[in-house]
Amino acid sequence: MKEDKIFPLGDMPIEEFRENGYKMIDWITDYLQNIEQHPVLPKIKYGDVKKGIDNSPPVNSEALQNVFNDLDKILMKGITHWNHPNFMAYFNSTSSGPGILAELLSAGLNVNGMAWHTCPSATELEEMMIEWFKKIFKLPENFGGIVYDTASTSSMHAIAAAREQLAHLKIREKGMAGRNDIPRLRIYASEQAHFSIDKSVVTLGFGLEGIRKITVDSKFRMIPDKLNEAITEDKKNGWLPCCVVATVGTTSTTSVDDVDEIGTICNAEKIWFHVDAAYAGTATILPEMQWIFKGIEKADSLVINPHKWMFTPIDYSLFFTKKLDVLKRAFSVSAEYLKSAGDEVINYMDYGIQLGRRFRSLKPWFIIRYFGAEGLRSRIREHIRLAKMFVQLMEKSNDFELIAPAHLGVVCFRAIPSNIKSEDELNNFNENLLRKINKSGKLFLSHTKLNGKYILRISISGLRTKEEHVIKAWKLIINTLKEIK
Ligand SMILES: *Cc1c(COP(=O)(O)O)cnc(C)c1O
Repeated sequence: MKEDKIFPLGDMPIEEFRENGYKMIDWITDYLQNIEQHPVLPKIKYGDVKKGIDNSPPVNSEALQNVFNDLDKILMKGITHWNHPNFMAYFNSTSSGPGILAELLSAGLNVNGMAWHTCPSATELEEMMIEWFKKIFKLPENFGGIVYDTASTSSMHAIAAAREQLAHLKIREKGMAGRNDIPRLRIYASEQAHFSIDKSVVTLGFGLEGIRKITVDSKFRMIPDKLNEAITEDKKNGWLPCCVVATVGTTSTTSVDDVDEIGTICNAEKIWFHVDAAYAGTATILPEMQWIFKGIEKADSLVINPHKWMFTPIDYSLFFTKKLDVLKRAFSVSAEYLKSAGDEVINYMDYGIQLGRRFRSLKPWFIIRYFGAEGLRSRIREHIRLAKMFVQLMEKSNDFELIAPAHLGVVCFRAIPSNIKSEDELNNFNENLLRKINKSGKLFLSHTKLNGKYILRISISGLRTKEEHVIKAWKLIINTLKEIK
């Protein structure tokens, strides 16, 4: 029939797929090869991308070539180049060749690893990757784990498990609202903790009052004595401590809370102890950085994001816990249509809010095998070396000051030109400096605020970032300073 020709059924013809697949790989290869020809930050206004896209979906089939053309014409001008060696903002996650290929394979297989029997390889590879990661991070044997999309999701699950651990409150059955038979619950984290913890307490019904922020010391680390005092005071006032979150590698300055000491407090009080090491956890693959995890055996749970510093295309967040049973109690709700393979298998859908789960574990399987643990180590070590080198360059200049210890891949600093005296003016100057640097398209840095000061932040974690890029970044910073001074 005629219609069949216009609207054929089934997928793209397989040879057309092959042809376009090669084309796509060529496109990505050229992109990565020539990435330095792009400005790191796109120079466009809000709405510029949308303008190029039709208001309505096409009625008739289009050649994929048209889409390829529009990718170049419309989308590329609105791309922020996270893979660019001069992307030194936030915590940069660069993708890697093996990671990109694994991502492609995941879409090709398109399995849903919700239960063991819905794809045994997805479940079992995930289990084995958790074991691999435990070994390279030197985590205790009694930790189990699961993979979620992001650290925000991981920490939310940690706090949900912490709440489930208080089983006598029967929150799983009765909820928290409208009850006067349970105390209010408290979560503790430092003032420098990531806002995902705030989002978690909002989501889980603790309310923002349910989180108590603990003061930090001059190096932006939670003060364990202050935590102790807060817990004692809360208990006196009828609160029930539920969970403490320590941050190893805070988002602003990469400060490292004392896991060992905070862990001792939590263990003595029997409070769930969660460690957020989303960014910095990766550094513990280095023997010389293992100190940041001293006392980790005291933690009930831990999150590390390979999509932040281990060359894994977003998303991939590792959640470890020694109390998988509690996590399971919090999240398993049996559905008859998914019952199958008996009790001895792991069904990851029972350990979180998601049912459908992508085949994420292909990514570390490709990445770790391709680079090798030692290959990963040398790359991470080089980033830390480059950050230290940046500090040395900066310390030779009287126009800048270091704001926080730089022991990982991030340096927090600000300009302090001698002609500027007031803090307000310094803040404006640094803000202006950052705007100018980023506008150049040659470098992308981000900022933070610490004790009212506007601070610049350079983060070195790109797979393509070499010494020459860091030196050029430094030159651009001092030259821009000279221009506006
Ligand atoms: C980035 C970051 C997060 C959030 O990570 P997502 O995976 O984007 O949710 C949480 N905690 C810390 C310390 C972080 O640096």
